[in-house]
Amino acid sequence: MDVLSMGETMVLFSPRSTGQMRYETEFHAKIAGAETNTLIGLQKLGHQTSWISRVGADELGHKIIHAVRGEGVDTTHVTYDKEHATGLFFKEKTMEDVTTVSYYRQNSAASTLNETAIETVDVESFTYVYLTGITPVLSRSCEKAVQQLVGKAKLAGVPLVFDPNIRRTLIKGEAGKQLLKELIGAASLVLPGKEEGAFLFGTPDEKEIANHCLELGAKTAIVKLGADGAYYKGEKTSGYVNAFPVSRVIDPVGAGDGFAAGLLSGLLDKRSLQEAVQRGCAVGAMVTQVNGDIEGLPTRAQLEAFMQSKRTDVL
Ligand code: ATP
Repeated sequence: MDVLSMGETMVLFSPRSTGQMRYETEFHAKIAGAETNTLIGLQKLGHQTSWISRVGADELGHKIIHAVRGEGVDTTHVTYDKEHATGLFFKEKTMEDVTTVSYYRQNSAASTLNETAIETVDVESFTYVYLTGITPVLSRSCEKAVQQLVGKAKLAGVPLVFDPNIRRTLIKGEAGKQLLKELIGAASLVLPGKEEGAFLFGTPDEKEIANHCLELGAKTAIVKLGADGAYYKGEKTSGYVNAFPVSRVIDPVGAGDGFAAGLLSGLLDKRSLQEAVQRGCAVGAMVTQVNGDIEGLPTRAQLEAFMQSKRTDVL
């Protein structure tokens, strides 16, 4: 197996039309979860992944499992919870350019994940463990589950790849920040964005953010720069990778998760760090051109064609 991850996936309901949701009668229903976005991205590129989670023993839980398993992700370590419901949220477009998000995730099935979720997982059979900063701040029991998984990975010598993926509404004060910094310190690779760096370290400068991550103990930091690509810094190498230019951004959400999928794919294929970051940038750019978090994640053939077509722009 290539990559193991753990986290919450919810069902996202979006009203079909613009206006107050109270008048809406028709909704799109899609699954949404940072970790599963990345795992699905990896599956589409031909890698083998597994997901640890919990969903409600309800129709939305089944919907999530159908979708994630349907993409080929192993769901052996996902359990059904009879007492807690699957989390869900709404994205309401009150006016053409105003979007309001309402979460119904408190006490969700996934927020009750705890250390027992890790017990039966053979962590050492994976090449990488991938985590985001969302899971540990969902609840105290999720925090413990994350620590347990990180500890098991360390013992097994499996590198941790960590995307801080900060959700400010879930982070509780300094203790929450400290927790994320500890995970950065435990990671082989950290993937912050500029805003996340500013939140954690008080600076939006990519070089300073990377230095802070390395000082905490991370081996390599890759700072995502949106339309400006990415900056990477390891113990011996550092540099910038240009973004792959896109004519028009349709939906930027999920670019970071796609970036993680491309990067991990490159590393699994034993490419250099720079080449892996390029692959991350390519997948991120492709995701911005399609509505939805997973719909734009490319197959390997699509990715190769895209990178080839933009070749002169990246070299
Ligand atoms: P999100 O949390 O919204 O998914 P993020 O902040 O984690 O995203 P971004 O920096 O927005 O990450 O995007 C990840 C990568 O995707 C970037 O490093 C870049 O390579 C690519 N990307 C994002 N936006 C664009 C864009 N407008 N044009 C080209 N490439 C882009």
